[in-house]
Amino acid sequence: MGRWSRLNLLSLGANYDRCVPIYHSVAQGRTVPLLKTLVSNYCTNNCTYCAFRCERQTHRERFNPPELADIAFKLWEQGKIEGVFLSSSVEGDPDDAMRRELGAAELLREHGYTGYLHLRLMPGSSRDLVRRATGLGDRIGLNIENPEKTALAEIRPDIDPKIDIWRRLRWCREEADRRPGLVSAGLDTQFIVGASDETDNQILETTHRLVTELRLQRVYYSGFRPIKQTPLENRAPCPESRVYRLYQASFLMRDYNFEFKDFQPALDEKGFLRDLDPKLALVQTNPEIFPVDLNSATFKELLLVPGIGPKTARRILTIRHQTSFESLSDAWKKLGTRVKSAAPYLSVGGERQTRLNDFIHPK
Ligand code: SF4
Repeated sequence: MGRWSRLNLLSLGANYDRCVPIYHSVAQGRTVPLLKTLVSNYCTNNCTYCAFRCERQTHRERFNPPELADIAFKLWEQGKIEGVFLSSSVEGDPDDAMRRELGAAELLREHGYTGYLHLRLMPGSSRDLVRRATGLGDRIGLNIENPEKTALAEIRPDIDPKIDIWRRLRWCREEADRRPGLVSAGLDTQFIVGASDETDNQILETTHRLVTELRLQRVYYSGFRPIKQTPLENRAPCPESRVYRLYQASFLMRDYNFEFKDFQPALDEKGFLRDLDPKLALVQTNPEIFPVDLNSATFKELLLVPGIGPKTARRILTIRHQTSFESLSDAWKKLGTRVKSAAPYLSVGGERQTRLNDFIHPK
């Protein structure tokens, strides 16, 4: 198979730009074209949800490092991509798969590539290779896939989560901390949501650990989709709304310092996020907290308000150091009218614009 046909087979989630598979990632409000590909889809492992599990009949291909580096460099030189994401199935020993991936990354840098490089590590790879990856990638990560040990043993029978994943993620953190300035875009991981009976509660608890203990920059959630000729081919797909709510909750943890326990009121009795913006769910279950007074609310209380993010909360505190809010209309003048969307949840000296109940349960 020719190199471009192989790229079509091994590229991940891409759209096509004149027959070249390009993945469009969104970063800081901007679309960034990436070459996002597997180095190989030969796999020795047998994860139950995966199209490339070793027991499944499928077309298998691999790149050798020089040809993959060459393809990526040419696409970057031509301005078709701004970044490269490399991952791989685990062909043989995890270190062999890592060496092929890092070999391509090293050659790419040697060609003079200065674009964004995102490397997905193999579970169980050696410390030496984790160290090499931190010297090459702007972002590195390793997929955790599931928060629950028993479920992981079922869906990823070849992998020990404690040793092959958590220990390696810790190594990533330690290596990145040892050499400040490297891995500038941080560490990441991914859950596959709905491949087992894990709850959102379990996913959020693990996400909180990953964000606070290992300071992961980003946690991705990929909704499970059944694949024919796998043990999970008859399992229902994960609803998109579930993935969306998990992202909303994880951004509240990462950007707003919400803690895992803060989400408890937003979960239903089975431990799943209700299909509602988690902040609005918190309003519904804690109406007694609102409205919060703009002149006395703490930073954390302000962050609970739908429509107020960390930037606005900090501005409110800065304004309060110099003066106070005299009324809600004075607040809109000082903070800008965009904050008016938060009006139902705010008060100034007892003054409220609208009855909160009308917003929680609109007629
Ligand atoms: S190790 Fe990766 S590629 Fe291999 S079966 Fe598991 S998920 Fe699929």
